[in-house]
Amino acid sequence: MKIEDLKSLLRENGIVGAGGAGFPTYAKLDKRADTLILNCAECEPLLRLHRQVLKMFTHEILSTLSLIAKTVEADNVYVGVKGSYKRTVEAINAELESFPNIKVCKLPEVYPAGDEVVLTYEATGRVVPAGEIPLSVGVTVLNVETVYNIYRAMQNLPVTHKYVTVTGEVASPVTVYAPIGTSVRDLIKFAGGVTAENTAIILGGPMMGNLVSEADVVTKTTNAVLVLPENLPLVQKKLSKTAIDMKRAMSACCQCSYCTSLCPRNLLGHPIDPSAFMYAASNGITNDAVPYLNSAFCSGCGLCEMYSCGQGLSPRMLLTACKSSLRAKGVKPPKSPEMHFVDNARPNRMIPLSRLRSRLGLDPYNKSAPVAEKDIKVKKLKILLSQHIGAPATAIVCKGDKVEAGQIIAAAAENALSVNIHASLSGTVAEVNNKSITITL
Ligand code: SF4
Ligand code: SF4
Repeated sequence: MKIEDLKSLLRENGIVGAGGAGFPTYAKLDKRADTLILNCAECEPLLRLHRQVLKMFTHEILSTLSLIAKTVEADNVYVGVKGSYKRTVEAINAELESFPNIKVCKLPEVYPAGDEVVLTYEATGRVVPAGEIPLSVGVTVLNVETVYNIYRAMQNLPVTHKYVTVTGEVASPVTVYAPIGTSVRDLIKFAGGVTAENTAIILGGPMMGNLVSEADVVTKTTNAVLVLPENLPLVQKKLSKTAIDMKRAMSACCQCSYCTSLCPRNLLGHPIDPSAFMYAASNGITNDAVPYLNSAFCSGCGLCEMYSCGQGLSPRMLLTACKSSLRAKGVKPPKSPEMHFVDNARPNRMIPLSRLRSRLGLDPYNKSAPVAEKDIKVKKLKILLSQHIGAPATAIVCKGDKVEAGQIIAAAAENALSVNIHASLSGTVAEVNNKSITITL
């Protein structure tokens, strides 16, 4: 297959990165990459779906990975998977004879092993420069479910569903193949309902996910729905306000530098220094802009505020606020910033997932969440027009239209980074606005 044909198949079938920010996958395929990495690190505590999907569809995913590698002419192909995912590793090993070009890279059980920059270093030893993407060092990283979706696209099946782990304070933790547009309310009901009072809902992992309501919906990037006690410190951190976080930093940051010493990006030589930022921001330093400008190099992994800071401060929240504010004012990140060497102490400063889970108070929720055997039943789907980075798709259906599952209901924006959006199930269009299309069944 030619690379241009593969790209147009992915754009047509609505394929975006199924794990992170939803970058349209066609734009990632590039012949400058000599290395392809399948990301099965799944570093957020409590999440299950990547190892489950790879174990269920090992042959389909590895054969598709092989085909992509051939198409982009990448010589090195790795499956990055944690050694602790024993059943998934067994399933991969059982298939490897058929795919001699694919090597397994066993990853340590640490957070954030799934960060593309960290994974690229673990698999290849190459350091992605600050502010760049893995392609800058000849690497393309693809998520497990994204590659499964590419396999489906080759059978002319567009992205209509998403694997989502529903866990925490629910009766029966489960991983469900949910139609895109399913409400969080329906997912929690499917998992047997909430089992505690005063809970909060997080869409995504406990470290990087966001607080949502039951009315929010599954998109192409939703990995998990977590129901957790509202008084859990990690939930309280997500509820806190920037102004309060800053006041607490002003009164309690002792400049111990633990946040910097354990920062995964800093350990790889990137010029992100949360401790220097906290000093500058909380002391109103104005004669040196570097700590503020370098906020652009924070990945938002959250380790500094959820694990490293013994004072319970929130460097990540404050860095994110600074980064957003600079971007809104049109301030560009520094170009080709100076990097330092990979820290010799890095192997000893990686954070074991078990310790992180325990520190977050998540041990009681570290339960299996098996893939559901039955389908989830829904009466209504709200499908968002912006589920990916780039330009939103444009609705091409009207209220009252009958739509079939898999039909294009919103077209990719012309001449822009964008992909099509499809009806997840058959039904009738109940509402169309500039943000979403609602379908009743
Ligand atoms: S770990 Fe906490 S107290 Fe120490 S420098 Fe960082 S923000 Fe300040
Ligand atoms: S969130 Fe904190 S630990 Fe993570 S990259 Fe940013 S500064 Fe470093």
